[in-house]
Amino acid sequence: MKIKQCWASLFDPRAIFYRHENKFDHIKVGIAIPVQKMVESERSGVMFTLDPLTNDKTKIIIEAIYGLGEMIVQGIATPDHYEVRKTDFEILDKRILNQEKMLEKKGTENKERNLSKRESGKQKITDLQIKELAKLGKKLEQHYFFPQDIEWAIENKKIYIVQTRPITTITASSKRQSKEEVNLPVILRGSGGSPGIASGPVRILKSALDNEQLLQGEVLVAEETNPDYVPAMKKASAIVTDQGGRTSHAAIVSRELGIPAVVGTKNATKILKDGEVITINGLKGEVYKGGFLSRPKSAQEITVVEDIKTATKVYVNLAEPELVERTISLKPDGVGLLRAEFMMAKIGTHPKKMIKDGREKEFVEKLAEGLETFCRGFNPRPVVYRASDFKTNEYRNLIGGQDYEPIEPNPMLGFRGAFRYVHDPKVFKLELEAIKIVRNKQGFKNLNLMIPFVRNVRELLDVKKIIAQEGLYRSPTFKLWMMVEIPSNVILLEDFIKAGIDGISIGTNDLTMLILGTDRDNDEVVRDYDETDPAVLWAIEHVIKTAHKFGITSSLCGQAGSNPRILEKIIPWGITSVSVTPDAIQNTRKLISYVETHRVMST
Ligand code: PEP
Ligand code: MG
Repeated sequence: MKIKQCWASLFDPRAIFYRHENKFDHIKVGIAIPVQKMVESERSGVMFTLDPLTNDKTKIIIEAIYGLGEMIVQGIATPDHYEVRKTDFEILDKRILNQEKMLEKKGTENKERNLSKRESGKQKITDLQIKELAKLGKKLEQHYFFPQDIEWAIENKKIYIVQTRPITTITASSKRQSKEEVNLPVILRGSGGSPGIASGPVRILKSALDNEQLLQGEVLVAEETNPDYVPAMKKASAIVTDQGGRTSHAAIVSRELGIPAVVGTKNATKILKDGEVITINGLKGEVYKGGFLSRPKSAQEITVVEDIKTATKVYVNLAEPELVERTISLKPDGVGLLRAEFMMAKIGTHPKKMIKDGREKEFVEKLAEGLETFCRGFNPRPVVYRASDFKTNEYRNLIGGQDYEPIEPNPMLGFRGAFRYVHDPKVFKLELEAIKIVRNKQGFKNLNLMIPFVRNVRELLDVKKIIAQEGLYRSPTFKLWMMVEIPSNVILLEDFIKAGIDGISIGTNDLTMLILGTDRDNDEVVRDYDETDPAVLWAIEHVIKTAHKFGITSSLCGQAGSNPRILEKIIPWGITSVSVTPDAIQNTRKLISYVETHRVMST
């Protein structure tokens, strides 16, 4: 009967709607029903192989209740809490709590049963079982090289492990957030742009000229954002946009600001109304009707900047000069990706129009001013300025943009990156001019240059020629990096290195898209966009190891850098640094420290 119900669920309204929305054939879908024996647990619980509140790796934390585990997972029962020392399994602390009712299997149903006073106050598992569990936890951690978040059950005195997954602090906090269910009706869905849950009244901004209208704590709703919106974004409790994906301006800046964002909802500006209170879950990409009182932050979620030293450097991706000061307190080792476009967009007028109007000097001064803010703030830590990677669709909106940014069928494959510098070097030369001012006149020798989206070795050589003509030469304090974003960069990396570069930085946002032949900006195909695809991982490994072989530095500045599944691989492969958004600095550092101390590094 249950199996029939499972089969039938293939045609329930939700499934039909889902297939319709995703254009799946209703007939060509199948359903697999794995049948497993359920552990009819008399006791059950969870175990963390580090203290999730303090990240203390010397302890194993076990929580236990009577009966089936659902009550603990849903937070209905407050479990006993035991702390065990990882080295010798000594029980360090026990907190026994009353459990009034338990869940147990009765026939085919799970039924609640009230517990007697005597039963409810007892220690839920024996000391021996606590130690036995802790031993299994330690084994699992050693097997997976990572602290584990484990669910366990005991039936007839036998321990079963029913689930184990890594508890990197990153996944732990996201898991916590997704566990903090928002029981409100979903009114919109988009992509998770920046994690976190926040509520507030809606403020729809039609353009950045309306920034003033947004009051502190309101949720900024806009078609999309650009650097002009940043003053309003800084006051917002959360951000919702109609357009854009995980690497859109709204998503990137929200992560830099540490506020939740849901991007690409298609029609938030039409569906939502000014003043209406909404809640957003930036991890799930959901917008709910009504307000939500968030659980007070646990110690784990409060950012305490710890002084952890890692061999692999942790750089920050930062594009807004206004955010330099607050980011310094997070102690990154430098800026690994300073995208030029944001500062340029803030200038407001298309650089080519400024050149046409004879305003080159003004452009250079404004750019130099932004660069100086970064270099002064982070001095002596390096700042890697990534020269402009304009895409026609994004920069048509600048004043005068229509005259210089043609409408292309696929801007992601179009007139962008280094091709522009070779095709028409004027703007690039102004960028180099700004670099010279900051390095030579203002004396900030921590400023370095990175070239994006280089399609072939010839292009790199041409760009290098322009840089030398402008009087900038590679030196121990002026490093020239190239982004690895195109499969040709991976395949011919050796040749690119031989052309003369000091380092590479893997731009997984573009590289993933181009290896998998999907479009990172296109919602229709974004499901196939996967940074952990074996083909992408193969490329990343090849690049890191080739860079190492030829004695140049390697970094990774795409969004994949904050994915623990990728970090655990690239550190042993020998990457020199990773560059992540400010919100990810702390957790990335902790994770790297863990991997560096627990894994045998390979080259
Ligand atoms: C990348 O492609 O991974 C990258 C960091 O560059 P952008 O996202 O600006 O294209
Ligand atoms: Mg890129």
